[in-house]
Amino acid sequence: MNEEKNLSIKEALKLQLRAMKLIHSLDRSLFPIIGLANIFSSVTPFILIWFSARILNELAGKRNPDTIWRWVILTVVITGMISLLSYGLQRLEEYHRKKVRADREIPFMNKMFDMDYCDMADDKTNALRAQIRQSENWGGYGIFYSISTFESVIKSITGIISAVTLTASLFTAKVPESSERYVILNNPLFIALFLGLMLLLAFISGRLFGYVGKLKALQADGARMGNRIFGRFGFFGIFGVNSDVDTRIYKQNRIAKEYMLAYRHEGYGLWGPFIKMTRGKGGIAYATAGSLSNIFTGVVYTFTCLKALGGAFGVGLITQYVGAATTLSGNLTDLFKTISDIKTNGNFLRTCFEFLDIPNSMYQGSLTTEKRNDRKYEVEFKNVSFKYPGTDTWALRNVSMKFNVGNRVAVVGENGSGKTTFIKLLCRLYDPQEGEILLNGINIKKYNYRDYMDIFSIVFQDFQLLSQPLGNNVTGCLDYDKDRVINALTDAGFENRLNELPDGLNTLLYRDFDDNGVNISGGEAQKIAIARALYKDAPFLILDEPTAALDPIAEAEIYSQLNQIVDDRTAVYISHRLSSCRFCDEILVFDHGSIVETGSHEELVNHVNGKYNALWNAQAQYYA
Ligand code: ADP
Repeated sequence: MNEEKNLSIKEALKLQLRAMKLIHSLDRSLFPIIGLANIFSSVTPFILIWFSARILNELAGKRNPDTIWRWVILTVVITGMISLLSYGLQRLEEYHRKKVRADREIPFMNKMFDMDYCDMADDKTNALRAQIRQSENWGGYGIFYSISTFESVIKSITGIISAVTLTASLFTAKVPESSERYVILNNPLFIALFLGLMLLLAFISGRLFGYVGKLKALQADGARMGNRIFGRFGFFGIFGVNSDVDTRIYKQNRIAKEYMLAYRHEGYGLWGPFIKMTRGKGGIAYATAGSLSNIFTGVVYTFTCLKALGGAFGVGLITQYVGAATTLSGNLTDLFKTISDIKTNGNFLRTCFEFLDIPNSMYQGSLTTEKRNDRKYEVEFKNVSFKYPGTDTWALRNVSMKFNVGNRVAVVGENGSGKTTFIKLLCRLYDPQEGEILLNGINIKKYNYRDYMDIFSIVFQDFQLLSQPLGNNVTGCLDYDKDRVINALTDAGFENRLNELPDGLNTLLYRDFDDNGVNISGGEAQKIAIARALYKDAPFLILDEPTAALDPIAEAEIYSQLNQIVDDRTAVYISHRLSSCRFCDEILVFDHGSIVETGSHEELVNHVNGKYNALWNAQAQYYA
């Protein structure tokens, strides 16, 4: 899996910048504000250190009350103003962070909407999306982690610059020659040793902190699985009425309990690898990193105090140098840690961009479809063969046929014979690997994708309605032509129910958001889905098992109206109930991915030994 690869720092920085660019496109103020807020907040302690040193120097030296007052007032006013500004900026930063957090799904949702259907339906794509979401949920890794790494970089670099400014004179201030014992401290070797030690300790402790982060990130796969198990079984029986009934009847909680126990002991619960890691390598690394910074504070104290003792500077400056040098080492440590973090997160970012960069091939066509009032759109399949991505078997093989304008075509065949696949290719949800599909003589790949989609109204078996008002469901928008919606609902056989609804077209479907919502039956939902297809008023109307959820009376109603509803459109029905295909002009019989027979009901039923005849007789025995 990607997340284990060791990235170079250059690659990691590139990914970090790309993630920042993406976040910047969601909110252009966030990074400037974070930058300013962190510059202010990390400069503030140094200002206080600098002023305190002046006050202490005066107290330990001339003790002039006027000078002391001046320093005190200046300290209070300046630090007060900077703190005020810094807090103001922090509030602003909080607001923009929340805004970006709320919008964080937008790039992923846009990608899902624009992606080729075949990629969207691919299990690999969904696994990638789930992986990205879960890494973000359990460790905060991914695109938005780059906000905190940016923040750390700004903070530590500002801290380093301020601290270097305040500590420079620690090295340049000379112990007077008169102080014989301490003159050795003026030796540049001492200074080099001191600086070298600081860099080394900061580097080691930064890397150790980074290592702890990496150890955590290496648990990504297991932690994701742990979260999935917890998500599925942790709340078992609490959510979902259906699963609750099953849980009670079959006592499924016993299985869930076993899983949860295994999860706690061997997985990612209380006794899992995280705790082991904290006690083992991770804990040792963390403790060592923490103690190294304390060792450094000791070294700073010794060096500074010895120099003060030798007379290089006054007592007041000891606080300045110790404070600034300790913060310098802390900031160096943070910078090294952040570099490790950027590398660790780089692997998660690669997964994010792998998803966001999935190429789009369906949108290459640029030809606009002719807008024809006569609906004369003729589609032809020419020797079309298709395999689903990642499979070796042909779902469709050498399919050739032509939809004559205005015809009613039934598509029949056993389960798995290729009916739905045929429709998916017709609507260009997938492109065939062999052969071509033509619209008015031109390969459909050459047309603008959205334009081509506009010529189809489809009701799939697994259609979805939204917890939204009825009118919005039918039209897919907030403003609509009420009369047209009512006509579509009437044509779909929903008129009586519509008249009973308390708020007519404004009635909210389902109760997810409001107790006043109306729960509708499967059959009613199917009628609304049919109305939605009719409202779109496309030249092709495709109904996949249009009446599967309807009771026999509603089914008879729909079929008796279908001819009138379809009007001059080309209509395609996928149906298992062969009796409902009788009114069609043409029937396509699918078997093992190929069209094995075509003709009218009368022609096909009389074809003894034919597939249609066999299917017809198999069904007829139940009606006899
Ligand atoms: P029908 O609609 O006639 O029941 P389908 O067109 O759904 O048949 O399926 C045709 C063949 O393609 C079957 O062998 C089925 O298993 C396979 N198939 C359908 N959908 C997928 C998919 N998303 N991925 C892989 N194979 C699929």
